[in-house]
Amino acid sequence: MLKYISTRNQGEESKNFSEVVIEGLAPDGGLYVPEACPKISTAELEELKYVDYAGIAHRTITPFVDDSINSDELYQILQASYLNFSSEDTAPLKKINDDIYILELFHGPTLAFKDFALQFLGNIFDNLLAKQNKKLTIIGATSGDTGSAAIEACRDKENLEVFILHPHNRVSDVQRKQMTSVASPNIHNIAIEGSFDDCQTLVKAMFNDKELKKDKNLSAINSINWGRIIAQVAYYVFAYLRLKTKEDIDRVIFSVPTGNFGNIFAGYIAMSMGIPIEKLIIGTNSNDILFRLLATGKMEIGTVKPTISPSMDIQISSNFERILFDLLGRDGKAITKIMQHFATGKGFILEENIKQQLLRIFKAYRFDDDQTKAIIKQIYTMNNYILDPHSAIGVGAAMQYLLDNKKSNNCKIISLATASPAKFSYAIEDAIGVSPKFPPKLAEIINKEEYFTVLPNDFARVKDFIREKAK
Ligand SMILES: *Cc1c(COP(=O)(O)O)cnc(C)c1O
Repeated sequence: MLKYISTRNQGEESKNFSEVVIEGLAPDGGLYVPEACPKISTAELEELKYVDYAGIAHRTITPFVDDSINSDELYQILQASYLNFSSEDTAPLKKINDDIYILELFHGPTLAFKDFALQFLGNIFDNLLAKQNKKLTIIGATSGDTGSAAIEACRDKENLEVFILHPHNRVSDVQRKQMTSVASPNIHNIAIEGSFDDCQTLVKAMFNDKELKKDKNLSAINSINWGRIIAQVAYYVFAYLRLKTKEDIDRVIFSVPTGNFGNIFAGYIAMSMGIPIEKLIIGTNSNDILFRLLATGKMEIGTVKPTISPSMDIQISSNFERILFDLLGRDGKAITKIMQHFATGKGFILEENIKQQLLRIFKAYRFDDDQTKAIIKQIYTMNNYILDPHSAIGVGAAMQYLLDNKKSNNCKIISLATASPAKFSYAIEDAIGVSPKFPPKLAEIINKEEYFTVLPNDFARVKDFIREKAK
């Protein structure tokens, strides 16, 4: 049976799926990873080719959930999680040219890819907590989309109390309203006077606060939660299989607009499971820590710059720790040392051979706002397809990759579209002079009352607020 360890593991006992999901972050500050990665064989993939989304997700996720959830329950959870998606294919694959397909991951309730993970995780929490007769306080930081997706996934769930921190005035109006217009007694929105990284640092500090952690049974729903990663692995498997029904391919490249490295890390897991992925392309905006890391081997935090792709305005790509763990031979001591060093604000330099290993798997490209708008315009003009700014960075990276790399013959690029253009209409109008269609789901929330509390970037104040409101 599959077990999990922390990336900072120094010989502690391994955990099962339900412990790992409910804890979120490991007590030693590390991230949970499976002791070994399960595989899917080529023969099994062939059998899954015409199966629907929930079925492929079920096969992908089953080996990761051990006996915490039985097979039938898991299938029901997956069906319920993707029932509200407005596309029949759940994650439709659209061809934009001979080399590039787009995987639309924005047909869920909040019109962004995070619904894939969070609808699933909300239902998983519900299932596990009900069995254990427990309540949880969920604290999360969001740079935009995670918050609304988490709120939609947890609203009105009896065993959950949810606190979502977002950077005050640094998320789009639509993103904020999607979060703050939810009138549910278990949902608390906090606007922090600071950046997304400040929010994330506050959340980490809450988790390190023993008293709070114990009194309120804290859990994370941010992209470090293993339950989110495995839900995301499913659409990589699905996309590969769907593409195989359309094209004569035996390999695939994914291009992923990247911030916290959660989405693309799921691609890495799909690759480790045996999906023939030739390369994982990272697209970043001007917040380019990953681009610089791959270029120089130096992991160093810059200051966060607001961009038109705000869900990627991140300078700490938390999930990167999981890749490092693998590349460093799963040495928890070495990771602990590096991360402690990193936490002091000093960067660290990867050894050349580690950097080379990274470059075999990943390739990174960076685009500023003007370049992002130029990509939106180019794809609109040439293909009559409107990309949101995040998705545009993925497509831009895919196009750049084709210009300066040879890909093998039977291989196409799938670029992940992570949000609906309707969520970022201002940037789209700026780029192409046309407004994207406004889906009815969004139109509804525009005039609704908003519920949120503005707090300073101050640990004690935020902690007091949570203590007072949590059950
Ligand atoms: C969160 C988000 C991203 C970045 O994903 P990570 O998993 O943080 O790398 C990209 N695009 C959109 C629209 C997002 O919401």
